[in-house]
Amino acid sequence: MTTVNDTTPVIIIGGGATGAMVAWHLLRHRPDLGRHGVTIIEPRELLGAGQAYGTHDPQHRINVPASRMSMQTDKPSDFRDWLDLDAIAAIDPDAFLPSGDLYPSRALFGRYLAARLAPYLETGRLRHLRGKAEDITREDDLWHVTLEDGVALAARHLVLATTHPAPSLPSALAPLADDARIISNPWHGDALSGIAPNDRVAIIGTGLTMADIVASLTARGHRGEILAFSRRGLRPRAHAAQASALSDILRLIPSPTALGLLQRIRSALHDHQDLSWHEIIDAVRKQGRGLWCALSDTERRRLIRHLRPFWDVHRFRIAPQVDHILETRLKEGRLNLRAARLLSAAIRPEGVSLSLRPRRGTEETQIVDHVINTTGPDHAGIVNRTPYLKALADAGLLETDHVGLGLHTGPDHHARVGTRSIFGLMIAGPLSRGQFGELMGLPEVTENAQSVAGSLAALVPQTPVLFSDEVRS
Ligand SMILES: Cc1cc2nc3c(=O)[nH]c(=O)nc-3n(C[C@H](O)[C@H](O)[C@H](O)COP(=O)(O)OP(=O)(O)OC[C@H]3O[C@@H](n4cnc5c(N)ncnc54)[C@H](O)[C@@H]3O)c2cc1C
Repeated sequence: MTTVNDTTPVIIIGGGATGAMVAWHLLRHRPDLGRHGVTIIEPRELLGAGQAYGTHDPQHRINVPASRMSMQTDKPSDFRDWLDLDAIAAIDPDAFLPSGDLYPSRALFGRYLAARLAPYLETGRLRHLRGKAEDITREDDLWHVTLEDGVALAARHLVLATTHPAPSLPSALAPLADDARIISNPWHGDALSGIAPNDRVAIIGTGLTMADIVASLTARGHRGEILAFSRRGLRPRAHAAQASALSDILRLIPSPTALGLLQRIRSALHDHQDLSWHEIIDAVRKQGRGLWCALSDTERRRLIRHLRPFWDVHRFRIAPQVDHILETRLKEGRLNLRAARLLSAAIRPEGVSLSLRPRRGTEETQIVDHVINTTGPDHAGIVNRTPYLKALADAGLLETDHVGLGLHTGPDHHARVGTRSIFGLMIAGPLSRGQFGELMGLPEVTENAQSVAGSLAALVPQTPVLFSDEVRS
C-alpha cells in the first residue's frame, strides 16, 4: 500500500455499524462532499460488519426483530425490505417465527449496511482504508492519523467509532492466558474449533455472548456439559410473545436518583400488571436518554453498580431461536447456569481446574477441558488498553467518561476533557453512552449516528458540488 499523506474533510476510525452509518448519513446530507469526502479506517473487508455483524456463524442471530433494525430512523423496515426473504426461507427457515417476526443471522445486517454504502465507495466519495489506526496527534487544528502500515493522513474532523474492545481476562485466569484451553476472546476467528463434542466447557459470563457460544457449540454437535457462571447468574430474557403499543405511549417521569427511578419503574410494572414487563422496559429504553440525563454522575454510577446487571438481562433480549436452544440444554442438564465468582484457576493433568465461590454456598472446584471468556468488551479499560487513545488522553485531548462506560462526550458529540470541548474530535456510537445513557442496541445506535452526521454536516465547510450522483436507496 502506498502512503496517502493527504488531507481529507472527515476521517472516521472504525467502520462497524456506527462508522458506516455516520458516513452514509453525512454523505447524503452533504452532496458537495466529493471525492474522498469521507474516509473510513477499518481493517475488515466489509464496512458495517463490525464486532456484532461481522460474525460468520449463522447461529449468531440479530436479537431485535429485523423490522426494528434499520440505518434510517424514518424507515424502520429498511433492513427487512432489503432482505431476500425467499433466499432466507430456503437456507434458514428457522429465522421466521409464527408471529411474523424475523431473526436472521447477524451477518446479513452487516451485508445490508455494506450494500447501502457500496454506491458511495464506487463513486469515490467514500474511501475505505483497510488497516488499523495506530497513532493520532493534533497539529494546527488538523487531526493526523497514522495507520499501522505507516500510511498517514489528516482531517479537520475526526470521528472515533471503534466501540468494542476485546474482552479482558478475569485476573484469576490471566496467568493462564497463553494456554490453548483458555479462550480469552470468543469473537476471534474460529475460537471454538478446538472443542470436541464431549468436552467439558466453562463459560465465564451469562450474557448475550454466552448465548451465542452455546448456540454455536450446539450447532457444531457439542453434547458435553457446559457450566456458565457470573456473579449473579442472570441470563438474558426472551422477547414477549405478543407486543403491544404501550411502550410508545407510557411516560415515565425522570427522577434525580437511581432509587427514585427504580421506584418509578416498579410502580409502572405494578400499574400495568395486565401487560408483559417487556412493554415497561421498552418504554424505559425509549425514554432512556431523558431518564439518564436527569441523574447526576454519582447517581449514574449508583445505577450502574446496583441495577445494570438486572437492566442488561431484561433490556438485551435474545432471539427466540437462541432462547429455545438454551432452554433445551438446560432441561437436558447439558447447560448449568450458576451464580458464582471465580477465585483461582490452574492447569492440572485432568484439565483446567476452576475454584469457584457460589453466591450461596461454599467454595468448590470444577474441572473442565476449556474455559471461554464472555465477560464482554472492556469498555472501562479502553483508554489504557488502546495506545492511540492513551496518547490523546496524555495530550489532554480525551478522557474516559465519569461512569466507566466509554469516552467523555458532550451533548454535541465532541470529546470533552473536564468542561472543555475538543473541537473536531467526535465520539460516535456506544462509546458515548456516558453522555446519552442507553445506547447499545441498534435502534439507539442508528439515532446516534444520524445525530453525529447531522452535527458534522453543519460543521464541515461547504465545497463546490463536484458530484451530481447523489445516491438514493
Ligand atoms: C456480539 C454482539 C452482538 C450484538 N447484536 C446486536 C443485535 O442483534 N441487535 C442490536 O440491536 N444490537 C446488537 N449489538 C449491539 C451493537 O453494539 C450495536 O448494534 C453496534 O453493532 C455497535 O457497532 P459499532 O460500529 O459501534 O461497534 P463495533 O462493531 O465494535 O465496530 C467498531 C469497528 O472499529 C474497528 N476498529 C477497532 N479498532 C480500530 C482501529 N484502531 N483502527 C481502525 N478500526 C478499528 C473494528 O474493526 C470494528 O469493525 C451487539 C453487540 C455485540 C458485541
